[in-house]
Amino acid sequence: VSDIPFERDIEVNPGAVDDVAPQLRRIVAPNPSPFTFKGTCSYVVGRGQVAIIDPGPAIAEHIAALLEAVGRERVTHIVVTHTHRDHSPAAAAIRAATGAPIVGCGPHRPFRSWLEGESRPSESGADREYQPDQEMADGDIITGPDWTLTAVATPGHTANHLAFAFAEANALLSGDHVMAWSTTVVAPPDGSMAAYMASLARLQERTEATYWPGHGGPVRDPQSFLRALIHHRRQREAAILGRLRAGDRSIAAIVTALYKTLNPALQPAAALSVFAHMEDLMARGLVIAEEAPTLTARYRPNQG
Ligand SMILES: [Zn+2]
Repeated sequence: VSDIPFERDIEVNPGAVDDVAPQLRRIVAPNPSPFTFKGTCSYVVGRGQVAIIDPGPAIAEHIAALLEAVGRERVTHIVVTHTHRDHSPAAAAIRAATGAPIVGCGPHRPFRSWLEGESRPSESGADREYQPDQEMADGDIITGPDWTLTAVATPGHTANHLAFAFAEANALLSGDHVMAWSTTVVAPPDGSMAAYMASLARLQERTEATYWPGHGGPVRDPQSFLRALIHHRRQREAAILGRLRAGDRSIAAIVTALYKTLNPALQPAAALSVFAHMEDLMARGLVIAEEAPTLTARYRPNQG
């Protein structure tokens, strides 16, 4: 997909502390993969009294690297954007080591319940053990001596996803909602395309100059990047409708037609992404399922 100005040029040294902006440090976890790029980005906000955003996967070296990065500073908040296993599980160990409360997104929940007989792909990797001490809602604020973080509800990748506006840095910690290296995974029932598109539109009304995502490097021109992301999904949606009108009836057939050069490891994710569009198109009355609307169901355009 060449219509989005992706930025994949990032040097990463897992465990190293990068001073990426004033009052913002980044430590990348040693969990690279086709879904996590170079690994999960954990962030330390402030100096002296700090918040850790997305402590990451429960990997002992990563937890040790985070604790070493903060050293004698006081951790006042452990902040979590969403409940995927590459973002939230280390929160419990950091809480045990520092005594800081876990705040941020609520416990894991899907957008809708599972359908009868629906297969459950493991890629989404939900962290069902996560329990915050304090759940934040849209607009809620936490502060330190030199930082202010405001929760920005950005559901779509997950139902509970929060981004965090860092006012003093004119930046947004964007989690997995908006990333410079790739589009995000929107996979039902954890994900919802309608919610994701609405959350992109919400960010178009904001003015932060830089986004610091959960994977990869920063988004330096967020407004043009958001326009490209929205355009990309609309084009994808039009292509799916085009395949249905041309006679394709299954998500598998549409994936084969639309993702010709895809890394085979990402094929199941592509199918879930088409499925997410299909749910959105059904909700808008543009597509009809010929049976229970699962990943393997037959679909057709609604000719009205
Ligand atoms: Zn995620």
